[in-house]
Amino acid sequence: MDKIQMVDVKRQYLRLKDEMDARIIACIESGAFIQGPEVKTFESNLSAFLDGAHVIGCANGTDALQIALMALNLEHGDEVIVPSFTFVASVEVIALLGLKPIVVDVDPDTFLMKTEDIEASLSARTKAIIPVHLFGQCVDMKSLMEIANRRDLFVIEDNAQAIGARCMDMVGKMQMSGTIGHIGCTSFYPSKNLGCYGDGGAMMSSDERIVQRLRMLANHGMERRYYHDVIGVNSRLDAVQASVLNVKLPHLNDWNKQRVRAADTYDTLLANIPHLITPKRVAWSDHTFHQYTIRILDGRRDALQSFLASNDVPSMIYYPVPMHEQQGYNKIVRRRVPLTNTDSITGEVLSLPMHPDLADDQINYICDQINKFFA
Ligand SMILES: *Cc1c(COP(=O)(O)O)cnc(C)c1O
Repeated sequence: MDKIQMVDVKRQYLRLKDEMDARIIACIESGAFIQGPEVKTFESNLSAFLDGAHVIGCANGTDALQIALMALNLEHGDEVIVPSFTFVASVEVIALLGLKPIVVDVDPDTFLMKTEDIEASLSARTKAIIPVHLFGQCVDMKSLMEIANRRDLFVIEDNAQAIGARCMDMVGKMQMSGTIGHIGCTSFYPSKNLGCYGDGGAMMSSDERIVQRLRMLANHGMERRYYHDVIGVNSRLDAVQASVLNVKLPHLNDWNKQRVRAADTYDTLLANIPHLITPKRVAWSDHTFHQYTIRILDGRRDALQSFLASNDVPSMIYYPVPMHEQQGYNKIVRRRVPLTNTDSITGEVLSLPMHPDLADDQINYICDQINKFFA
């Protein structure tokens, strides 16, 4: 059995090596490093993958969220609803722009924000919602968009962990994640389901006016060179990274299927352990298993993690501290609902190794170790 890794980017590269090396070298030889054909090609490839939504590349997923919020013309003190149980970026950009993050709880079984909490967190200053499709599965966008439309709120999907998932939209149709709200944001950080070889990100939208604004904001607020109509940022998708993504994108659906297959095996082998809860799959969305995250209810999560580490099984705690408990954020975030589930699951969650190349013998070994720990 090969050494078990949390994420195996090297093995994936070796599988694609010939095509990848050729494409990267051709990009370097072309001399077109900023914008250029590889970036244009990737934007149109990803757009086709997303059934036609426009795609604007940018430097990383955090910038994508920030530029998306900048495009909405919000005012200082306007409120944005976001889960507390997320990667910092979803909340960081709200705070950076002088807006107020109103954090909500998550469902303990799916790790996703709940529409009741959104409803209970609304105020006259509420302007936007950032649903986070955490660990690879989408928030209930049908119910969320109903609230958003009723209250005329903007919806920015944080799709950094769920690219390639389909989710039920307002009219009950399955649509690509990131294309249901007004703007979708994603990240090509190397360990994401579609990762490049450095930082990268993208925004997606079907609204032409929003698309034009996003493009302008990401490129120094200019449409015509050296004429700056608004204050923007410098955030572009690197051409070399775009060439990496052009090689990888055609494989994304297969890789996501391989992740689901690994998750199925985990589900079976971990089914009958008391105090261990396997991740729940919802009916309204695919699961792309960016993470396979279990919960340990008997207070022995950290002991299990140490036991696994001593048997060469890596694991991670995503996320140990929710945003309302973070030193940099606890005075800035507001809440109008109890964060009971968030407060308990941070002590229970454990993400197991998950990537498309995870082999059956490796999953068997991991689950044997877990069973041994609880025996
Ligand atoms: C990775 C991630 C981001 C940020 O992406 P970067 O490319 O690292 O800036 C934002 N939100 C979530 C949920 C993420 O997992």
